[in-house]
Amino acid sequence: MAQPLPRPGILDIKPYIGGEGRVEGITHLVRLASNENALGCSPKAREAYLKAALDLHRYPDGAAAELRAALGKTCDMNPDRIVCGSGSEELISLLVRSYAGVGDEVLFSQYGFLMYPICAKAVGATPVAAPEKDFRTDVDALLKAVTPKTKMLLLANPNNPTGSYLNRAEMKRLCEKLPSSVLLLIDSAYAEFVQEKDYEDGRALVDAHPNAVMLRTFSKIHGLAALRLGWGYCSPEVAGVINRVRGAFNVNAPAQAAGVAALADKDFIKKTIDMTAAGRAYLSENLKKLGWQPLPSVGNFLLVHFGPKAEEIRLKLKDKGIFIRQMGAYNLPEHLRVTVGTADDNARLIEALKSV
Ligand SMILES: *Cc1c(COP(=O)(O)O)cnc(C)c1O
Repeated sequence: MAQPLPRPGILDIKPYIGGEGRVEGITHLVRLASNENALGCSPKAREAYLKAALDLHRYPDGAAAELRAALGKTCDMNPDRIVCGSGSEELISLLVRSYAGVGDEVLFSQYGFLMYPICAKAVGATPVAAPEKDFRTDVDALLKAVTPKTKMLLLANPNNPTGSYLNRAEMKRLCEKLPSSVLLLIDSAYAEFVQEKDYEDGRALVDAHPNAVMLRTFSKIHGLAALRLGWGYCSPEVAGVINRVRGAFNVNAPAQAAGVAALADKDFIKKTIDMTAAGRAYLSENLKKLGWQPLPSVGNFLLVHFGPKAEEIRLKLKDKGIFIRQMGAYNLPEHLRVTVGTADDNARLIEALKSV
């Protein structure tokens, strides 16, 4: 009997699998598998969320006007050029859907974020990966991979899972050399954690190049991953495209309210940045002492080479209630990704690693 079939390519997608975070019988869990904020979220954001719970019968503001105004004010940007999404993941997906289709190529870096090839395949486009050098995005390799079929280039900066970044000069060169007909998506999900002076989050590039889009998220620095809230800064033309294809009420009201409050809580943001910088240094130093090789990272996570026993180590840690992320889906079976946690989380991880 005939059955409904999805478009070609859909069934070739390996579904994205999030980090694990639960084991039976263990109550104190150390969850370092999903790059979440170990401090939780701003108490002010939680308060705003709870207050929004009194109005669950009302539709949200489909334009997210208050949130966009707050973002515009905080980041000194024109709110008309800001678009909000149900996580930045939704914006990635909407952009790929709008700018690429069957027969088109969607370009990204070898160890780029896994959602990029998934989104490309979902629209029937061909995912193209440019090789990296030493786990760093290679601007020349990306430019060399551009063909007349290339519709988009998706680039996380800093990149997840490698933790490496392209500096201002490299990004400028990429923008200048990339054909202006190719949409450049600069995914700056971890921008707030970067302390290097030569880093640029993408805002200036969007102002200079109408084909560039910067994406940001509330899931990492603001600790609001459960609410699904992200935003993009782009040209009025690209904003117009996203506003045509997005759901009319794509960002829920409690998320909008919590987002506005989170932006205003500078103390929480600073605490998160400080905890992350200290924890990243502690983990890096202590992993090296134990003989493991963490890659240099500017994000809230470290990619670590554990060798052929990586999976065995991961499972032993899991038995102790400590979760870190497996990297097989990135073709890095000997690596594991460790999110920077609280000082206590990090110490527990290091202690546990001494015994596995
Ligand atoms: C975590 C992450 C995001 C954010 O996703 P949300 O959908 O906003 O939770 C986007 N890009 C990269 C590279 C990430 O690691």
